[in-house]
This record gives sequence, C-alpha cells and structure tokens, in this order.
Amino acid sequence: MEYPKLDLFIGGEWRKTSETLPVVNPANESVIGALPVARRSDLEDALDAADRGFAIWRKTAPRDRSDIIIKAARLLRERQDEIAYAITLEHGKPFQQAQLEVIRGSEFLEWDAGECQRLYGRAIPGVQGMRHTVLRQPIGAVAAFSPWNFPMSQPARKIAGALAAGCSIILKAAEETPAGALHIARAFQDAGLPDGVLNLVFGVPAEISNFLIPRDKIRLVAFTGSTVVGKHLTNLASEHMTPVLMELGGHAPVIVCDDVDPVQVAPTCADRKYRNAGQVCTSPTRFYVGQDQFERFTDRFVASAKQTVVGPGLDEATQMGPVANERRLVAMIGLVEDAVSKGAELRTGGKRIGDCGYFFEPTVLANVPDNAKIMEEEPFGPIAIINSMLSLEDGIYQANKLPFGLAAYGFTHSSANAEQLIEGVETGNLSINTLEASLPETPFGGVKSSGYGREGGEEGLHLYTVVKNVSHKMVLD
Ligand code: NAD
Repeated sequence: MEYPKLDLFIGGEWRKTSETLPVVNPANESVIGALPVARRSDLEDALDAADRGFAIWRKTAPRDRSDIIIKAARLLRERQDEIAYAITLEHGKPFQQAQLEVIRGSEFLEWDAGECQRLYGRAIPGVQGMRHTVLRQPIGAVAAFSPWNFPMSQPARKIAGALAAGCSIILKAAEETPAGALHIARAFQDAGLPDGVLNLVFGVPAEISNFLIPRDKIRLVAFTGSTVVGKHLTNLASEHMTPVLMELGGHAPVIVCDDVDPVQVAPTCADRKYRNAGQVCTSPTRFYVGQDQFERFTDRFVASAKQTVVGPGLDEATQMGPVANERRLVAMIGLVEDAVSKGAELRTGGKRIGDCGYFFEPTVLANVPDNAKIMEEEPFGPIAIINSMLSLEDGIYQANKLPFGLAAYGFTHSSANAEQLIEGVETGNLSINTLEASLPETPFGGVKSSGYGREGGEEGLHLYTVVKNVSHKMVLD
C-alpha cells in the first residue's frame, strides 16, 4: 500500500502546481507527500467548474444522483484498507480506527443518498382554483472547509449533503490530512459524477476562503473547525448574505449521577476520551461526578488511562496514536502546566512521550479550578478533566456555563434524572448512558458558539436547499 499522489481536482481533472506544502507523518515527523497549493487561477477555474457542474447536477434526477453517490460509497468501502493506511500515515490514528472512519464516511454518503429521494415539498390548500406548492430546490455551489481530525468522514459529510441536495461543491480539505478527500474525489470520478460537480482544492486556508466566500456563485459556506475561525467565516459570509453551516468547537460535559456504578462507567468514558487522541469535537472532556463517587470514578479512569497503549497507528497493539501536529502537542503541554500552576491535581500523564513524533500521555486532571485555561478552552487532545458536583442541578449548571453546546453526556438509571438532563442541558446532542453522539441517521450540530445548522438525519439536507413557494392560479375552462 502507498500514500496517494497529491493533486488538486478541478472540473474533473487532476492538477499539480509548482508550489507545494509538506505532508508530515506525526508518528515520526517524516515528510510523506508534497501537496499542491492552489493559485488564484486554480480557484477561478474551480468556481467556473462548480458553476457548470451545478447546471448539470441540479437537473439530474434524484434517483440518478443517489445511484452515483451509492456507487462512490461502495468504491470507498472496497478501498477501505488503502484509504485507512493513508489516513494512519498522515494523521496518526490507529489503523483499525481509520478503517472504521472509512466505513462511517461511506455511511454518511449512503444516508444522504437515501434522503436525496425524500426531499419532499408540500401542497397548501388555497381558495378555489389556487394551489400553493412548496418546493425544496438545491441552493447552488457550496464552498466547504473540512478539518484534519477526521480526514475521510468530515469531507464525506459535506460532500454527501451537497451532492444529495443537487448542489455542486468546492471543498478545501485540510492540508495536513488530504488523503481521505482525495480518495473520495477519485471514487466519485470512477462512479461517473459529471465534471465540475465536485472540486477539491488545497492551499493557504485564509486565501482560499477570502477568495471563494465573497463570490456570487457561492451560495452556501459549510465549515467544520474552531469557533474562532467559524465566526470569522460567518462574518465574511454575512457581508454577502450567504448562509452558513457551521460545525464548531465543543467542550463536552459528562454528568455521572450518583445512581450509577462509577467503576463500571469510568473505563467506557476513558476509552472514548482517548479515541482519536481526544481530537474530536464531541470528545467527552469535563466529567462532573457526585462527591460520594468522585474518588472511585477518578481512580478507575486513571487506571484505564495508564493502560492505554500509545504508539504508531500502524502497530497492531496501539490504542492511541500521536496528536496530529506539533501545534496540538504544544497546546497540551501548555494547558497542563497552566492548570497545575492554578491548583489542579495531575493524576496521570501530562508529558510528551519521547522526542520524535507528537506522542502525548493520556492525561487526567482532577479538581481543576475555574480559572484554569483548560476550563474554557477546548483541549482537543488526550486530557480529561474530572471535577465533583454537589448535585445534579449543580452538574447541569457547570455543564452550561461555557459558551459551547455541541455534545453532552449523562449517566443515570433514573428517568427523573434523565428528564432533568433533557430539559436542562444546553446542547445540540445529548447522549444518555452512551457516548455515541453522531450517527448518519441523527441530526448533528451545535447551539451557542458551537455552531449553526445540522448535518445528518432528515435535517442534514435543509441548509443545502432553498424553499420556493409556487402560487398557481389555475385557469379553468
Ligand atoms: P485553526 O483554528 O487554525 O484551524 C481549524 C480549521 O480551520 C483547520 O482545518 C484550518 O485549515 C481551517 N482554517 C483556519 N483558518 C481558516 C480560514 N481563514 N479559512 C478557512 N479555513 C480556515 O486550528 P487548528 O490548530 O487546526 O485546531 C485547533 C482547534 O480547532 C482545536 O482546538 C479545535 O477546537 C478546533 N477544531 C475543531 C474541529 C471540529 O471537528 N469541530 C476540527 C479541527 C479543529
């Protein structure tokens, strides 16, 4: 298996440019590829191609769109190992987790391929001879930006929504992890997608967003990434009245109620915390545990953290790979130092492992004071915060006090507690007794500073469409 050749994909053609960016393997810091940087002329071509692609694709029957999307998803499933290998090299995650990501990306495509045939409108009764019909039509060409933490499933989600709704798309995937998006583009080309419907570019993120977002031909901006960048792009789009789909940061609280066995729940929580080295917007991060259960929960969590096997993603025994880049490593070290200096207890971890590769120890901080940076800033890495709560009301108060609201979790056997969580926690996604927050069939997205709009579920295609009302007065003989 090989790391793929890196190209831009514009108007159905693969293209190189003279300027390139290195793609680095975070497990050993070696350079594994040279990624072409899009020039202004490439972006202009992508825009024209997306315009032409939209003219064809919007007129393609939903069933035919669905067939092509399903075919691309099947090809991705068939190429699962090759894609997973590339993702492991560029991102660092364990090979098996990369394989699962390829399947999840295919599932996103398959779900939206089904939804594309169910984009129903409705008929509104009017006065005699008058009919009002409400239609959902594709919004137009989409400028989409996907991050590095899930190189396959994040681009798949944006492409699935756009293509299923009948839109064309220019995707700027993450420069650090381009392979998943490249494989998706290749699969769509092989599946017979008309030229220009899907275009893939890489380069300097700010240059690309500054060029694309103000263009008349771009009718939706879809972004997944940090809240800071999301707000910036939303401001840029608002100057042009261009709608946005924003899937931004989280800082997910987990409320562990007194009625559950902390020793049973803690390993499940630790396993999920360290998945993808904690670089997940829904990663369980702030654990609030009843005072009586606090020490037992923390001890068991720490034991699981210590047992987590950290290493290169291609080693079979590895459960957690390196963090994805040097920025995350520096951020982890800084957040731990800051928390400890303000009185947090470092129960395990807290240090870089070795001096080659971006490996960081699975870390637990306990009794972290509110003035520690990590209580406000999403760690986006393998650090768990465990604090105690005085009561369920207190836990919900702590959960809600940050400006984020993407995913939240609760563990309880009591339906009264569950009801209190459902009513009280400010979040787009609440999971009770499970740490699964995002599935193809359920709508995913945030409230407050965690974003706007939903991906997945029936709601996932809404922002990719516009509603048109047709009032038709029948001329009767
Ligand atoms: P960053 O804020 O520099 O970048 C986040 C993403 O936005 C990257 O994919 C980047 O390419 C893109 N980006 C940055 N500036 C842009 C611009 N002007 N126009 C278009 N795209 C732009 O942060 P980072 O160091 O890559 O990651 C740090 C933080 O980002 C994390 O702590 C986490 O909070 C957040 N993040 C969130 C997700 C998510 O799934 N919601 C994914 C990746 C990163």
